Amino acid sequence: MKKITVLLILISFNTLSQNQKEITINQMRDDVKYLSSDKLKGRQTGSKSEKKAAKYIINNYQKKLLIKKGEKGYIQKFNKKFKPNPHSSIESKEITVSNVIGYCDNNQPKTVIIGAHYDHIGFGEYGSRYTGEKAIHNGADDNASGVSIMLNLIDKLCPNNLYNYLFIAFSGEEMGLIGSSYFVENPTINLSMVEFMINFDMVGRLNEENGFAINGVGTSSKWNKLIDETNENYNYKIIKSESGIGPSDHSSFYTKDIPVLHFFTGQHEDYHTPDDDIDKINFNGMYLIMDFVNELIKKSKKIKNFDFQETVNNSNTMTSFNVTLGIMPNYLYDGEGLKIDGVIKNKTAYVSGLLKGDIIQKMGEMNINDIYKYMEALNQFSLGDTTNVTINRDGEIFNLPIIFK
Ligand SMILES: [Zn+2]
Repeated sequence: MKKITVLLILISFNTLSQNQKEITINQMRDDVKYLSSDKLKGRQTGSKSEKKAAKYIINNYQKKLLIKKGEKGYIQKFNKKFKPNPHSSIESKEITVSNVIGYCDNNQPKTVIIGAHYDHIGFGEYGSRYTGEKAIHNGADDNASGVSIMLNLIDKLCPNNLYNYLFIAFSGEEMGLIGSSYFVENPTINLSMVEFMINFDMVGRLNEENGFAINGVGTSSKWNKLIDETNENYNYKIIKSESGIGPSDHSSFYTKDIPVLHFFTGQHEDYHTPDDDIDKINFNGMYLIMDFVNELIKKSKKIKNFDFQETVNNSNTMTSFNVTLGIMPNYLYDGEGLKIDGVIKNKTAYVSGLLKGDIIQKMGEMNINDIYKYMEALNQFSLGDTTNVTINRDGEIFNLPIIFK
């Protein structure tokens, strides 16, 4: 009899958490459905439709009773002159950038920041990899997925009382981390109280092997062990990278000596095209990542002295070379060539017009099969040298002349 009762309790408990999971997944589907709908026209920074996305996030914050931590309610707003590309003839224009910031105060000495950018590239005027007719870039993976995980984490994290939590939906990420850079210069909480920052950018495409990337693992001596311990219960195929500098908003916090992690389910060919749509989002996968982060944060609490470490970022990794392109290689990519995950501003690749998503196939006469070949190739050049880089951009193969600077 007793056994049966225990069994029944266990079963009903299981169904309860099963239901909770279903509810959260349905919520995530609703979030992404709205944020990546045509109605929001690709959420271009400063646009009316981006405002609708901000409103959606604000409604969530209100419902979840977050404290307003913007400068005007939940909003932190500023104007910024923007020129898409220093060589382009398009005139710079002034845009309004609005971060959406909410806080739960658990009266703890330490605060954890959870962030995700909610802007995208609109009709692809800047930053698109697509060359067809004008079309809405819905950005379901980039980054409705990250916003949704952040919103759903509010319910999981705030009641645990382990930290205070600051939730920031950044704008202007696609235009060069504008929103997060502004926030770290004009923070609405005391940044010295921040234990660490977690960034979700493109987390909607968990693959069948449950493989995803965690970047920024070198930014604290504590991350590696903490991630491995958390993963004991999950057994995900995690690909770690050390650098605190990457092509998303966590970089801004890293520059303020805050340990960061960036969760990322990898590049794909729909990246920055109108095909980054909801039909390819893995909602169960989003739930798994959210659950993982929730556990990781719980486990982090027992760590004393959560230190910050500077990481060897890309330009430094290459200090043994005379030159660098200034790119972030994509470590999840296992095709031929070296896929670019991010282009560091004002470095050689950036100035020469290489883009995030390009696959480098050749440098000069040397075939670049993988990252090691790439490093080997770099060894052959010195500052001021010129060469051709053969790249594959969305199936189109062409050469770009570069000068190492
Ligand atoms: Zn993004």
